[in-house]
Amino acid sequence: MEQLELAIQEIKQEMPGLELKENEPMSGHCSFRIGGPVRALAAPQDVTGLTRLCYLLKKHELAPYILGNGTNILFPDEGLKDLFIISTEKLTKMFLLPDGAIYAEAGVSLSKLASFAQQNGLTGLEFASGIPGSVGGGLMMNAGAYGGELKDAVESVVIHFLPEQALYELTNEQCAFGYRSSFFQKMPGCVILSGVFRLEKGEPEKIAEKMRELNAKRREKQPLDLPSAGSAFKRPEGGFAAALIDEAGLKGYAVGGAQVSEKHAGFVVNTGDATSHDVYDLMMHIRRTVWEHSKVALEPEMIILPPDYRLEDHGPQVPLHRVWGGTEEA
Ligand SMILES: Cc1cc2nc3c(=O)[nH]c(=O)nc-3n(C[C@H](O)[C@H](O)[C@H](O)COP(=O)(O)OP(=O)(O)OC[C@H]3O[C@@H](n4cnc5c(N)ncnc54)[C@H](O)[C@@H]3O)c2cc1C
Repeated sequence: MEQLELAIQEIKQEMPGLELKENEPMSGHCSFRIGGPVRALAAPQDVTGLTRLCYLLKKHELAPYILGNGTNILFPDEGLKDLFIISTEKLTKMFLLPDGAIYAEAGVSLSKLASFAQQNGLTGLEFASGIPGSVGGGLMMNAGAYGGELKDAVESVVIHFLPEQALYELTNEQCAFGYRSSFFQKMPGCVILSGVFRLEKGEPEKIAEKMRELNAKRREKQPLDLPSAGSAFKRPEGGFAAALIDEAGLKGYAVGGAQVSEKHAGFVVNTGDATSHDVYDLMMHIRRTVWEHSKVALEPEMIILPPDYRLEDHGPQVPLHRVWGGTEEA
């Protein structure tokens, strides 16, 4: 793709200090440990670097794919030779705002966010301490566990909107969070830069105790010793994916190196040499079998990127509160 090659050349010239890996295998950047090379993977130092990178790509009519901690993505073995990925791993600023809310950049891990809240005597993020994702990925997916979801804690989110190269601040309501869903999933071109989390006052020791309890539960129930992308399927209405998969007799069922975890049927694990095709074929087999067994259609929770994945950097306009940049006041 000529445009992408031109963009990479310009980015190298314009941003000489940028960490830019070319033809980088994605197996090293996701919790599944699966995935071939992506044409470029960049990790800007800060929000300014990230927005500059987006601007340079946009000049070539390209949009980046955004990577958080890679704990909810299946990358294709064939690689993504036409894709430019931006990792948020270096966007890790986090601090208390004067009014007591927490500001956290997209690359802050959810476990660090939960610990920071605990250290500051703030309760409401205990559920997130064992979720291995980042703030950006967590907000994109409205991550949740043990009855809590990020939507219950986040007050506002700042995004860089690629089609306009403008920044917006969205209120919690505007983020339209649902079960493992958000406005950002439906609106192509949203790069989450940061979130503000408003929590209740609590006792640090009680908060820590709750976090220890939930993490012990996680270790007991989940196959944390094997690579995976967490729950393979969303919870269907009125039931649990793991129970349905178990009832369909699929616990331990394997396709190549991909297996329905023996410990928790809701997880598809990589037993060592799984390919993305193994995982995909296994997921489809699970869907078919569960449908035949209980007439429930399971919907994947992880993001499955096909080998011919392309990004659209445009989408419908929505009224948003503009922070700065662009031209119109909404
Ligand atoms: C062992 C294990 C346990 C898990 N347990 C849970 C759990 O209890 N609850 C739960 O909800 N999930 C769980 N997950 C899944 C996963 O951790 C969450 O979905 C998490 O929120 C994903 O965050 P991430 O940073 O890894 O996102 P990624 O996997 O990197 O990305 C996920 C999606 O978000 C997009 N994205 C990431 N960052 C940004 C950004 N800054 N701006 C725009 N888009 C972005 C990506 O493009 C992608 O589409 C688990 C996963 C594992 C491996």
